[in-house]
Amino acid sequence: MWNPFKKEYAKIVFSVDYIYGLSSVGEHQTFDIMRFKKIRDQLVADKLLKRRNILRPDPCTTDDLRLVHTNSYIKRIQDPQYVNRMLKLDETNLFYNSILEYFKAVTGGTLLASAYALKWNIPVFNLGGGYHHAHADKGEGFCLVNDVAIAIQKFRKLGWGQRYMIIDLDYHQGNGNLLYFQNDPDVYTFSMHADTWVEIERPQNRDILLPSNCGDKEYLSVLEQEMNHSCMDFKPDMVFYIAGSDTYEKDTLGDMNLSREGMLKRNMFVFRKVRKKKLPLVILAGGGYGLDSWQVYYDFIAQCLSRKQ
Ligand SMILES: [Zn+2]
Repeated sequence: MWNPFKKEYAKIVFSVDYIYGLSSVGEHQTFDIMRFKKIRDQLVADKLLKRRNILRPDPCTTDDLRLVHTNSYIKRIQDPQYVNRMLKLDETNLFYNSILEYFKAVTGGTLLASAYALKWNIPVFNLGGGYHHAHADKGEGFCLVNDVAIAIQKFRKLGWGQRYMIIDLDYHQGNGNLLYFQNDPDVYTFSMHADTWVEIERPQNRDILLPSNCGDKEYLSVLEQEMNHSCMDFKPDMVFYIAGSDTYEKDTLGDMNLSREGMLKRNMFVFRKVRKKKLPLVILAGGGYGLDSWQVYYDFIAQCLSRKQ
């Protein structure tokens, strides 16, 4: 029986639409299309999660897309051929027609996670999301829709919070968020990566480039130092953490050398840092490639659900 007074340590957002949409990617690049389903299934098998406790989102609406993206861009991405060309997908694969639906489903997940985190102030993991390369008028790097920017604009409009921080530890720079919020003093973007796409300096931004072969020790010491610096003065109403797994040593795309233990230390460091300040926290999966990638995000969620925070 559901007990409203039972303490919950974290919530999980997931929808089967995440799988159906992604299945259209087929063998493109090194995506493990079952990555998020594997995480859910293992959490359930380990008795850390009950299926009925998973939050299931509705897809975001076109009005939600309009909060960030231009009308002409939204019109263009209705055409699957255009999307395929922009994301460099195989145009002969008819299943690519549902890519937009996939992004709407995951963005709906980020919106639900944000609403839940803001209302109940508990950490919420979306098993997907963090499409940080998407711009207002174009997609980039397999990011069609910017889910985090949409969530920020939506909840500001609802008056649920005005100041937001994005902590982005994906292998790739969060250039879409950096550019989109570059003139916005109420959004702080922190990105630590091995791959810089754009250079902008502003008071509400911290952009750190690390060497591509960086290992646990160097990575964690820079993270600690930089986050102590960045989080000192800016007081957000909520934090988004894009916990990309493509910094993992077994990732097939990134070339950093973080061990599985190092990845967990990294994720728990950010988690504790934010939660110590009692801030609502939404965690997005970000990038992660190859068949071992799912284990990194799984470890992170498992630790949070098993109350070893
Ligand atoms: Zn990435």
